[in-house]
Amino acid sequence: MQSVGVIGAGQMGAGIAQVSAQAGYDVFLSDVDVARAQKGKDGIAKQINRLVEKGKLDSAAAEATIARITPVSGYEAMAPAGLIIEAATEREDIKRVIFAEAAKVLGENAVLATNTSSISITRLSQSVIDPMRFVGIHFFNPVPLMGLVEVIRGLATSEATVTIASDYAKKIGKEAVLAKDSPCFVVNRIFLPLINEAFFALGEGVGSAQDIDKGVKLGLGHPMGPLWLADMIGLDTIVEILKVLQQDFGDPKYRAAPLLTKYVEAGWYGRKTGKGVYDYSGPEPVPSL
Ligand code: NAD
Repeated sequence: MQSVGVIGAGQMGAGIAQVSAQAGYDVFLSDVDVARAQKGKDGIAKQINRLVEKGKLDSAAAEATIARITPVSGYEAMAPAGLIIEAATEREDIKRVIFAEAAKVLGENAVLATNTSSISITRLSQSVIDPMRFVGIHFFNPVPLMGLVEVIRGLATSEATVTIASDYAKKIGKEAVLAKDSPCFVVNRIFLPLINEAFFALGEGVGSAQDIDKGVKLGLGHPMGPLWLADMIGLDTIVEILKVLQQDFGDPKYRAAPLLTKYVEAGWYGRKTGKGVYDYSGPEPVPSL
């Protein structure tokens, strides 16, 4: 496989395009229009040039990597790709339209993958031409830094497709774990309840925000505390993911902590709004409450 198509040039799509190009793949990058795809490429070029400034990459390799990424306007240009990865907005209706369009150009042995965080791979596979060649490849944010991908097998995904996804993961320098097509797969299934529990503990006054974060960081060896990380992910996003877990499992244990819901009702989504568990308006973040 020589080339990869990436649909969606946002946070995740740009990261996927970057690591694919760094691994030597030619990358066709698309978004709703070519200008957005180009914007995605410009962002990647900035990231790569930063690596050069830090002495982590020589400038010839950086130039070659950037040159391997081609912003494209439609799907036709992706016809040579052995693997097309969809990383567009997390909406099922949008993804379904993309799969129908991408299927028209997908080569005979090519694989279509989705980076969805929460939508069932099996359900999404209804809108692809060949569910055997459809798979989940779930990356972690920021893609260039995180060493893991989850490879998710839908009900009809073939062994050959899983192998193509796993080989690709290896080539881009990621470890792959295999996950069944179950809500939120492995990592978020385990991690989201941990974040939610931190909000229950904060709401019950078990510890201050800073002490909960410090406790998990130093006591469990996590690189950052769960409330701090929640502000980075976005509290609104966390509530949405918890809803998926609660609905799909039909288990109230996944209900969002009342304090987490209150923050979202207040529009305190975290860093992106300047305020979440912490307030970012001053020189140093301080707890909002
Ligand atoms: P984002 O908003 O940064 O990017 C989404 C991009 O998709 C945008 O550039 C948007 O213009 C584009 N898009 C929308 N409709 C499109 C269409 N019809 N065709 C082509 N492009 C289209 O979002 P993101 O954080 O990069 O998330 C993308 C996907 O990755 C989602 O499925 C999300 O669940 C998943 N994901 C996100 C994270 C994360 O931490 N953000 C982690 C793992 C997986």
